[in-house]
Amino acid sequence: MAGLRQVIIRGGLESLYFSGAHLALEPFVGGVGAILTLHHVRPPRPDRFQPNRLLEITPRFFARVIKLLRRSDLDLVSLDEMHRRLTERDFGKRFVCLTFDDGYRDVLQYAYPVLKEAGVPFAVYVATSFADRLGELWWLALEAVIARNGRIGFTIDGRNRIFDCGTLAEKRTLYDELYWWLRGRPTEAELRAIIHNLAAVYKVDIAAFCKELCMSWEELAELAADPLVTIGAHTVNHPMLAKVTAETARSEMDLSRSVIEAALAVRPQHLAYPVGDRTSAGPREFALAAELGFKTAVTTRPGVLFPEHRQHLTALPRISLNGHFQRLRYVRVLLSGSATAMWNGFRRLEAA
Ligand SMILES: [Zn+2]
Repeated sequence: MAGLRQVIIRGGLESLYFSGAHLALEPFVGGVGAILTLHHVRPPRPDRFQPNRLLEITPRFFARVIKLLRRSDLDLVSLDEMHRRLTERDFGKRFVCLTFDDGYRDVLQYAYPVLKEAGVPFAVYVATSFADRLGELWWLALEAVIARNGRIGFTIDGRNRIFDCGTLAEKRTLYDELYWWLRGRPTEAELRAIIHNLAAVYKVDIAAFCKELCMSWEELAELAADPLVTIGAHTVNHPMLAKVTAETARSEMDLSRSVIEAALAVRPQHLAYPVGDRTSAGPREFALAAELGFKTAVTTRPGVLFPEHRQHLTALPRISLNGHFQRLRYVRVLLSGSATAMWNGFRRLEAA
């Protein structure tokens, strides 16, 4: 096993695939199923500065993934069916759930026709302020500020700072620095205040991104009418829940469910935590989601599902289809559970 670990760490996904290690490991780390995370499915764009490229895959790759999944011996199931299998310990066949976060229009345009044609169930986790055109896709506002300017200035920790971002390399570096610095702010309010300030100074209309990219309630209604589709909750304002008060976290989860129910006449039973990593959702949020009666809630902590997850139904891991890794062999490796087993040091549960 130590030898295998070395190989895996050195070469990552490629090594896992070409060494055949993912096949050797699969019986031990493959679990009972997996939930895939997707965001955008849309044609590639020519812009060279695309710091959020990881959040989108092309319609062509998407169609190939669906074909691969359908030809595999995996069952493609809804979140309700996943919940049933986990709670009833029905593990005869491994399964995969497809989930799309945020409610982007390109899902309706490019992913839905493929899924409908193939009869594949899927879930869309809707942030209600996005459908209401009031949401703040702040990571895109930051991208726009850097893309449209050669130099930007703002106040960090009480000091005025100037950043050059005239070249592509500078833009990429600055985006990374500022993005992770913002993600590291202790409260969501601080992050939003900085973004509001930047957007105001550099004349970026934050709300415009919703209109351009997110489904309206009418478009969501079209999806919701299809029995293949599960509409899940994704809060109202898409905050990192661990960075708001318990009261706000609770109302963000609960209110989004009520807003969706009022708009689409379906009451969401499933939730996805915005951002969803360790800094955004932890034990407090897992307990709140359970208390509010959600059947399941998903994180973006990487991993496949094991029988033990029936005790942690509001702290489920997922596997992201990342736009930087659009190769079928990576999907095979990820579904084998071997890459995430390495990532998690072979621990099956990450619910703390
Ligand atoms: Zn999201």
